[in-house]
Amino acid sequence: MWQIEPEHELAIFEAGISETDEMDKLQTIIQPTIGIFTNIGQAHAENFIHINQKIAEKLKLFTKVKTFIYCADHLEIKEIILRAENFKNIETFTWSYKSNANLVIKKTLKQNHSTIIEALYQNQKIQITIPFTDEASIENAINCWATLLLFGYNNEIISNRMTNLSPVAMRLELKEGINNCSVINDSYNSDINSLSIAIDFLNQQKQHRKKTIILSDILQSGRDEDDLYSEVSGLLTDKKIDKLIGIGKAISRQKDKFSIEKFFYDNTSDFVKDFPFSDFHDETILLKGARIFKFEKISKALQQKAHETVLEINLNGLIHNLNYYRSLLKSDTKIMAMVKAFSYGSGSYEIANVLQYYQVDYLAVAYADEGVELRKSGITLPIMVMNPEEQSFDVMLKYELEAELYSFRILGLFEEALIRNYKDSNKKGFIHIKLDTGMHRLGFENNDLPALSSRLNNNPNLLVKSVFSHLAASDEPEQDEFTKQQIAIFKDMSAFIQSEFDYPIMRHILNSSGITRFSDAQFEMTRLGIGLYGIGANDTEQSLLQNVSTLKTIISQIKHIPKGESIGYNRKCIAAKDMVIATIPIGYADGLNRKLGNGKGKLFVNGHLANIVGNICMDMCMIDITEIPANEGDDVIVFGNEYSISQFANDMETIPYEVLTSVSRRVKRVYYQE
Ligand SMILES: *Cc1c(COP(=O)(O)O)cnc(C)c1O
Repeated sequence: MWQIEPEHELAIFEAGISETDEMDKLQTIIQPTIGIFTNIGQAHAENFIHINQKIAEKLKLFTKVKTFIYCADHLEIKEIILRAENFKNIETFTWSYKSNANLVIKKTLKQNHSTIIEALYQNQKIQITIPFTDEASIENAINCWATLLLFGYNNEIISNRMTNLSPVAMRLELKEGINNCSVINDSYNSDINSLSIAIDFLNQQKQHRKKTIILSDILQSGRDEDDLYSEVSGLLTDKKIDKLIGIGKAISRQKDKFSIEKFFYDNTSDFVKDFPFSDFHDETILLKGARIFKFEKISKALQQKAHETVLEINLNGLIHNLNYYRSLLKSDTKIMAMVKAFSYGSGSYEIANVLQYYQVDYLAVAYADEGVELRKSGITLPIMVMNPEEQSFDVMLKYELEAELYSFRILGLFEEALIRNYKDSNKKGFIHIKLDTGMHRLGFENNDLPALSSRLNNNPNLLVKSVFSHLAASDEPEQDEFTKQQIAIFKDMSAFIQSEFDYPIMRHILNSSGITRFSDAQFEMTRLGIGLYGIGANDTEQSLLQNVSTLKTIISQIKHIPKGESIGYNRKCIAAKDMVIATIPIGYADGLNRKLGNGKGKLFVNGHLANIVGNICMDMCMIDITEIPANEGDDVIVFGNEYSISQFANDMETIPYEVLTSVSRRVKRVYYQE
């Protein structure tokens, strides 16, 4: 709303809800005059008793509109509207494939890359053509058509504009670049709106101070060149971009408009040929070029050499999962996101950055050096270190990393570090007290508490941020009695600690499956781990989470093996019949467990699962594709949406935690956000 300026005549808002009683608030904020009910999807259905309740809730946004537009084929919506008292005086504009409506859709004709939509409006045949063929785009276009007709636009104008639509979906990829750079690749379209979105994504990346944009001419904007590049220049300055490399004749003509560090080239080849790429270092680089500028050449030159095997990390999935767990918690319960072990294998600052941007409250790492790496990449969230080591305390204090203290031995070492670093100052080292309530791994026990409290209270350089414990079996219904007992013990022990201090101390005991299954015990904070990375506590929850990690590779070579020949090391596989096999560049050094050889494991190729044949090698393995249509270069999925991490873990006789954390560091991580 804050972006509305006096000169604006039309503002379009998309409002969504996830539970009851949210729409009233949005109504008073937005106060729409025209309402469009686009669709009633299944998202967030779990928080509503019935679809009608969800529709009724959504309709609250429209109780004061002048005109209401909807598809009359959504019968549930239609019925509610016809019955609702507060809709009696609202003018409606309907469209329908089936029944009488203001705009009756007669036919949709899908062609290769476009769809012709024919309709009847005020007894006249009219039509539009849109450059999309998917159902969602067709429905969106019809809603938009209805709105424009309601505004009184001539259909000729509407159909002209409709043909010029372009997809807004974009996929921003973040990759490791040369000389410690990060590279964001967005070469899908190059209009000024998408530039603004891409720069916001760039600014979310805090790992390097310096921000660079490589930008091509902006094509087909239909705008005056001077105006356009003045606006681009303003955008770069506003958003604190440090360096511009402009590629193309138009942007080069406009070079004087830009007041930041800048370089210009007429075309991509000149840039790749003449620019010293070794000048790029320790910066985040956004590539934003219209397709004809072939920015792939630049991204290739900027990227570190990669293998064909990559772990793709879907940041949207991560955000979705975070929000899912948030929806299970009270609004004031804090979340500590577990980013130990390289964020369960998915990355360090790349993940922490997203979590910081989406405002989790705390991060937790296993070792101090993981925390230092995050601090050096611009992560300012509080960070708890779960296994602080004697030699790491000084560096922890320096980088404001907060120690988990679990025994008097480790407390003693920490006290010594406080004396070394903070003596005669009023600085404080923040700590978290770990209690053992039955896991029997690390932690203070009940009879330690009086001595512990007095010792902590007597040290003016120390502040207890939280007291916590860990559940041993929160995901296992057979152990629920034990879990409840752990929670009860924790309540008592933490109450004692709290009573001994005259400042507030947070409490937390729930991990991911604890949040799902024991949400009464959320106290002031929870520790979210595996759920964030897409693994649910049970099948129902699994269906509500999104997959985050996909381990993929390709087929290097295909071979035809006559019956009786052997395949791979030690000739463990002898072809029982004529076979076709594919060699895949992933082996046990990448984390593909050698136990999965000889038919135990499978990889997913072109819609089929293919058995691994023979022994898995260090860097490669072979699969049986005798019955599977495939070509060299085709994608192979080790795990991901098509073949879930849980299924893969099951086949490997282990748990998803191990699968995720055993993808070796040499497998390049590629992050994307749509
Ligand atoms: C790893 C860990 C968690 C997170 O557990 P998940 O099951 O992954 O949610 C929570 N607390 C502690 C102490 C941990 O070590």
